[in-house]
Amino acid sequence: MKNGTILIPLAVSPNLNDYDSFCQSFSWQEEKQSLDGLREGKGLNIAYEAVERHAAGELKDTIALRCIGKDRTCRDFTYNNLHKLSSRFANILTTLGVQKGERVFVLAGRMPELYIAALGTLKRAAVFCPLFSVFGPEPVFQRLSKGDAKVLVTTKSLFEKKVRQLLEKLPSLQFILLIDEEAYVSEKVRSLPRMMEEAYDEFSIPATSPEDPALLHFTSGTTGMPKGALHVHEAVLMHYMTGKYVLDFHKGDVFWCTADPGWVTGTSYGIIAPLVNGVTNIVDEEEFDAERWYSILEDQKVNIWYTAPTAIRRLMRMNIEPKKKFHLEHLRLICSVGEPLHAEAVLWGKKAFGMPILDNWWQTETGGIMIANYLSLKVKPGSMGKPLPGIEAGIAEINDRELKITSQPEQQGHLVIKKGWPSMFHAYLHEEERYNKCFRGDWYITGDLAKKDADGYYWFVGRADDIIKTSGHMVGPFEVEAVLMDHPAVAEAAVIGKPEPVIGELVKAFVVLKSGFIPDEATQMDIMGHARKYLGAAVAPKEIAFTENLPKTKSGKILRRLLKARELGLPEGDLSTLERG
Ligand code: ATP
Ligand code: MG
Repeated sequence: MKNGTILIPLAVSPNLNDYDSFCQSFSWQEEKQSLDGLREGKGLNIAYEAVERHAAGELKDTIALRCIGKDRTCRDFTYNNLHKLSSRFANILTTLGVQKGERVFVLAGRMPELYIAALGTLKRAAVFCPLFSVFGPEPVFQRLSKGDAKVLVTTKSLFEKKVRQLLEKLPSLQFILLIDEEAYVSEKVRSLPRMMEEAYDEFSIPATSPEDPALLHFTSGTTGMPKGALHVHEAVLMHYMTGKYVLDFHKGDVFWCTADPGWVTGTSYGIIAPLVNGVTNIVDEEEFDAERWYSILEDQKVNIWYTAPTAIRRLMRMNIEPKKKFHLEHLRLICSVGEPLHAEAVLWGKKAFGMPILDNWWQTETGGIMIANYLSLKVKPGSMGKPLPGIEAGIAEINDRELKITSQPEQQGHLVIKKGWPSMFHAYLHEEERYNKCFRGDWYITGDLAKKDADGYYWFVGRADDIIKTSGHMVGPFEVEAVLMDHPAVAEAAVIGKPEPVIGELVKAFVVLKSGFIPDEATQMDIMGHARKYLGAAVAPKEIAFTENLPKTKSGKILRRLLKARELGLPEGDLSTLERG
């Protein structure tokens, strides 16, 4: 099935309807014309493009943001409301003396104040940095301190549990604004509602250049200590164009991105891209729950849904047939990012929703989608798709001296991207050397390995750090995991290389079974046999261990390095982003 292709039947003509010819005629210059600030000589400010320009125009009364509370009550904000509220927040920052480029952090669940603070911070030309509300005190401290936070927006209970005891160690943190505190607290700790009430709802955005810093995002920490990637206002161009061409935003669309802004996807696509494109953005304050999610798709008449493989795998494990049980006829596009989406999941989308799930690839560092499947392009299940127009990707061989792009189809190598795309990260905060190491000549080295086929589709192989060397073969974990996942008993799988004196490393698999399957030797042998049949004896796992759960980051990525450390009895390394269930 892997090499089969699917063409999606379309309800609406897609914004990108002929990939090849569009790539040839594409120009960033023309794309930039769509951004009002630039056209009007006002510079480039993300929040201006996301709300201010719409607030005066025909989208004024369109719902920009709908926050669904845990109890299912909705709080709606039109473009005009969101513009005014974010202006109030920007005025608060001015009152507090926050200067351009200084950092404003938010530690809160997905509640409206987070979104208002994000846009207000960007209007003030300060730098917005969201943190997962489920982080413990140590990861919160690491990030506030590394990011020199000046202002923190949070709730009373998060402040008490995670921040109060850190204040002495955070000299740069001058103000804490509490979302749910009505009363006066102190000069340093203040009531956000009070300040919002007193602030003006008109704010004049200071001159912002495309190169001014805007967003600080910590990476997921899948391969080690999270890095602080700094992005500039020009990134909005990438958010705008990927919203248009990958997420296929049309006027009147309702969009739901399930990611938390603590992960870059929840900011680039959970805040900026939908607003810049003028669609209605749905936010759910609750965590994953299959029935709830399907009913949100139904009740909110969601047209475009952006989620992650970890959630898709969980949905696949349940005995729910969404298309039969829910009215999902408004849904016309489902996209996924964060981890490889194996072919079976792509095809499950067809069965469950009537459309394959479209995978796309990017990273915190790239700031926006770089490689994608498009509505108008044939889908090859298991492939990440093709680079965005205007993005030059390549597969490279890299050694100490040179980086050579290969023209050989199917050759495995480093996935690299030509420098200079609008949402490229401009720094790893306080880690200049590490940043410089990511670049070689004109190319950014992503740290992922991939292949490109003769039709120009990219296929994920694995993270360079996770590659297993066994009996002279280089094995990408994804290839093995994808085959394991094809077995009817397997719900999730992760493989690691375990040192072995004769063959270098042996492939060891950790497998979560679907409910109803028994973790015994017969199941083990059956899965091993299946893996041997499709992968060959050299590459198939030599050891399989059953487990109830796989360790994951808070953004839902499998932490193979932790499985490996535990297997080998080594120190577990940084676990600040580990999801503790
Ligand atoms: P860290 O850099 O701290 O180790 P991380 O790389 O997981 O963490 P993110 O920037 O959130 O942090 O994730 C980007 C990575 O996720 C990519 O480099 C890639 O390895 C993986 N990824 C994202 N999308 C896909 C995809 N569609 N297919 C395969 N892998 C993907
Ligand atoms: Mg990374």
